[in-house]
Amino acid sequence: EGGMERHTYDVVVVGAGGAGLRAAIAAHEAGARTAVVCKSLLGKAHTVMAEGGIAAAMGNRWPEDNWEVHFRDTMRGGKMLNNWRMAQLHAQEAPERVQELEDWGALFDRTDDGLISQRDFGGHKYARLAHVGDRTGLEMIRTLQQRTVQLGIDVFMECTVTDLLKDGDRISGAIGYWRESGRFITFDAPSVILATGGIGKSFKVTSNSWEYTGDGHALAMRAGAALINMEFVQFHPTGMVWPPSVKGLLVTESVRGDGGILKNSEGKRFMFDYIPEFFKAETADTIEEADRWYDDKKNNRRPPELLPRDEVARAINSEIKAGRGTPHGGIYLDIASRRTPEFIRKRLPSMYHQFKELADVDITAEPMEIGPTCHYVMGGVEVDADTQESAVTGLYAVGECSGGMHGSNRLGGNSLGDLLVFGKRAGEAASAYTASLGDARPAVSEDDVKAAQASALAPFEVEGGENPYTIQHDLQQSMNDLVGIIRTASELEESLREIEVFKERAKGMVVEGHRQYNPGWHLALDLRNMLIVSECIAKAALAREESRGGHTRDDFPKTDAEVWGKKNLVVTLNAAGDGVDLAEKPLPVMPDELKKYFE
Ligand code: FAD
Repeated sequence: EGGMERHTYDVVVVGAGGAGLRAAIAAHEAGARTAVVCKSLLGKAHTVMAEGGIAAAMGNRWPEDNWEVHFRDTMRGGKMLNNWRMAQLHAQEAPERVQELEDWGALFDRTDDGLISQRDFGGHKYARLAHVGDRTGLEMIRTLQQRTVQLGIDVFMECTVTDLLKDGDRISGAIGYWRESGRFITFDAPSVILATGGIGKSFKVTSNSWEYTGDGHALAMRAGAALINMEFVQFHPTGMVWPPSVKGLLVTESVRGDGGILKNSEGKRFMFDYIPEFFKAETADTIEEADRWYDDKKNNRRPPELLPRDEVARAINSEIKAGRGTPHGGIYLDIASRRTPEFIRKRLPSMYHQFKELADVDITAEPMEIGPTCHYVMGGVEVDADTQESAVTGLYAVGECSGGMHGSNRLGGNSLGDLLVFGKRAGEAASAYTASLGDARPAVSEDDVKAAQASALAPFEVEGGENPYTIQHDLQQSMNDLVGIIRTASELEESLREIEVFKERAKGMVVEGHRQYNPGWHLALDLRNMLIVSECIAKAALAREESRGGHTRDDFPKTDAEVWGKKNLVVTLNAAGDGVDLAEKPLPVMPDELKKYFE
């Protein structure tokens, strides 16, 4: 390809969700020549879909709230497997990051005193989520995007990064292609920040959209970095179950935070039957107490509908399995009988429209039918807590594609906070690293560029192979059936055998036509990433012989504090580059001054 498009930057950010944009702003403000590359249109990232809010202990509703309580809630929500330092930094810095968004023009909902309003969410002791109705992510992206454009940061949109480039042990750049023309583009840059979001498209039922094929996870592994916590996938308890075309679409937790309750087909409010020992002390055990809590949080404990997501998803799963599900195989989520139509339309405008338009259900008059949906991956690139740098020099990861912050389960609202806090930190660290190099920058190897192109184009050369859609379809079904909410050794072993078969099939994958806007080819490239990420999840899930957070083993139902509570599972690419190696690693040790919160 004569005259390939080529650019030189100090910092290249892959992904334009909240994490990527916040990182780019920080890098630019630190003086780095910065570019943002994103696979879809600017503004179309998962962040924009975030509904509930940004968790930050601002104490606007509850003066008792502070970073220490938020830190404790986060660690408990993650069942103590979180990287304590990340959880601490997040709790300490989130309020400042929210305030800063407001300084940049974000308009949050207000308390009567004119402060930023904060709402209740599962696992958070106090009302803590700064929000804009149920469209918080939209406001966050709008604000960050506007600032990115104002600052003059270069944006390459509808451009997919397919490989990272290295000079020895260090990052030297990245290569990708324009989705429309299919032409390649190379970035020379000593620092690359991955901010590519999640992996949900490896599962059949998911709240994630087409972009979320684990690209950053896979890019990092292929560059030599490690992933951590990959066995922990969050199944959100409330996704739509009907009609089939929208199965998996998210129903925000705010419905429960604002008073919604869960009922089975017998009309029973079943969550009281599923309060685990770990949360008994802080959860109401009668309907009366639960209902009083919305108005008097001091003297009552929280309703069991607001237990962390893993607990609620498992409870729903059990009710459906026991034959107490709705006609479409879900459970009822009822806010209609609990709040006035005016309240519901004001607090949950998007949910109101979503159900009205997509399912012809009026949520101010009838209950919704909902069920669990694959939503978020706690696992991601293993990074340094303070800088977000991976094991590869010059490679950073931030947001959903990084790991550690959320341990085995993420609390709602803690993702948006994570994007802002660590986005800023990564942008600053990456620009400082590039600046420290002076003129001694790593160089892009032309051979590596050629090899990356050849590998991307390989599916065009195959004759008579299988198309990527059937392989993707089978992978999604297999992950849903065998690596879902409830797991067992035999099913996980079977899933690993199936993944090997999918990998073989993918070698013979063929795409038709040419390189101009060719969705089949795009999928073929994404599928490489989905396969490796799926293998990481299944392998780590098989190894972890306990149940904790987003990982439930039917054959090991107990949480094992002594053995598994003390270690992480780390995955890397094997030497042959065609599979996954798994290792155990002790958790970082929490200092005594933080341990006191858990006694
Ligand atoms: P994303 O916002 O997912 O952005 C990823 C970016 O990477 C995109 O720009 C994409 O195009 C780009 N990209 C991916 N691969 C490539 C590639 N190969 N090359 C170039 N670009 C690439 N969290 C909360 O805290 N509160 C909430 O209320 C909340 N509600 C949610 C509601 C829904 C429906 C969903 C799906 C998630 C919700 N979450 C919420 C989770 C949260 O929104 C996400 O975890 C978070 O937005 C992820 O942000 P991110 O910046 O890491 O990535």
